Amino acid sequence: MTKPINDQPIILEIISNYGSRHTYKKIKYKHPELYQRILDYANALPRNITWTEKLFMYYYNITTRPGCIVCGETVKAFYSFNRGHSIYCSRKCVARDNLTKQRRQQTIKARYGVDSLVEIRWHR
Ligand SMILES: [Zn+2]
Repeated sequence: MTKPINDQPIILEIISNYGSRHTYKKIKYKHPELYQRILDYANALPRNITWTEKLFMYYYNITTRPGCIVCGETVKAFYSFNRGHSIYCSRKCVARDNLTKQRRQQTIKARYGVDSLVEIRWHR
């Protein structure tokens, strides 16, 4: 796959002028060549994804959704142009990550008698 022409400034400008919800019409009618490049790019992307996700993946020059930070599985949720993809693949991994956080906190509590390491500085 060839790297897309640098359309990032145009895309950013459209989003900052019209908001990320109105990019489809603006790009399709005002920038037909860019529109075509995004459509061509989308051939390499997963099927059944929204226009905004296509635009997002084109913008960041990625062709696959990122992996979950807990298990590495491909994430399924895409939120918005500004928020991008979810960092987890499932509720299970969200829960698992929370458990890890809790366990980390319990370890700190048991070791140092404080809730977080930031507090230690205050107790010294
Ligand atoms: Zn996961």
